[in-house]
Amino acid sequence: MQNKHPYKEIVKKNNHTIINCKKCGYWHVYPMPTEEELNNYYETRYYENLGQNRAMTDKLNDSDGFYMMQYYDRLRHLTRLLPSDLPKTILDIGVGYGDFLRFMKKNDWETQGLELSQSACEAIKDKNSLNIKQGNINKLLGLGFNKCSVVTLNNVLEHLREPLKVIEIVRDNLLLPQGILLVIVPNDFSILQDMLMKTLLKENYQKHYYWTAHAEHLNYWSIKTMKRLLLNNGFKIKYLTGDFPMEIFPLMGEDYILYPEFGRKAHLKRIHFEECFSKVNAYGLKDKLFEAFAKIGIVRGVHIFVTRWEKNKYR
Ligand SMILES: [Zn+2]
Repeated sequence: MQNKHPYKEIVKKNNHTIINCKKCGYWHVYPMPTEEELNNYYETRYYENLGQNRAMTDKLNDSDGFYMMQYYDRLRHLTRLLPSDLPKTILDIGVGYGDFLRFMKKNDWETQGLELSQSACEAIKDKNSLNIKQGNINKLLGLGFNKCSVVTLNNVLEHLREPLKVIEIVRDNLLLPQGILLVIVPNDFSILQDMLMKTLLKENYQKHYYWTAHAEHLNYWSIKTMKRLLLNNGFKIKYLTGDFPMEIFPLMGEDYILYPEFGRKAHLKRIHFEECFSKVNAYGLKDKLFEAFAKIGIVRGVHIFVTRWEKNKYR
């Protein structure tokens, strides 16, 4: 293991070994599952477990309005960052149920999307009008997508065996010059998670590195390591933000790590907090606050907007 992926640190958890890899520059599972094992899992099991998957059921119904709020922020940032002469075209890689693309289409964007799961795709009634194709991300190039002004990888890269390959394909083949790639990944091995291990979870070794218990996550980035990966591979940063630092709740005593039933309550509180900004139209303040959360490394998820270096050394 040391030869191919030399590591600085190692965590063993639930039969997985996760290394802080010197070669890749971020934490990842080692050894990786085979391509076949992964395809099998996503094509069959992932969305079939929908009923037990809180995040996905929430997304389908969005009864709290949480996703709509996130999509609205995302659209605001994209509109502001994108050069005005570029067309309003977007490719979402890993659309899930297509809810983000549907939102973008309603806002007059031309959409394209890719989803691996057959059952998720079958559930998307408007997939033709949203131009969503079912297929494997490893065959991204052969699927006939047009170059777009915006490409989004929303909680996708952490599931992939070879995330860099997808980043390179987007960079070289799917993004228009000056277009924007938006990468969203969980912010793990963060300073707040570390603080939790040293305080609330101090005596509870079982729960140390609790975020690595996610069965489907193969890669773990922080803001710093994701920034570095993109900067080293032909991109420059346009904007960096993220979502609410959820670890604040257990640090305040609402311990959803030991008591998962608190999770829902914490989620609703975060929504309530963010809605207040919308109600008084204080988006400027909200943006500054979340930019600051990102800058100090405590967002729960990293939202990183990048653009390609043009005519650069990577060609
Ligand atoms: Zn590695």
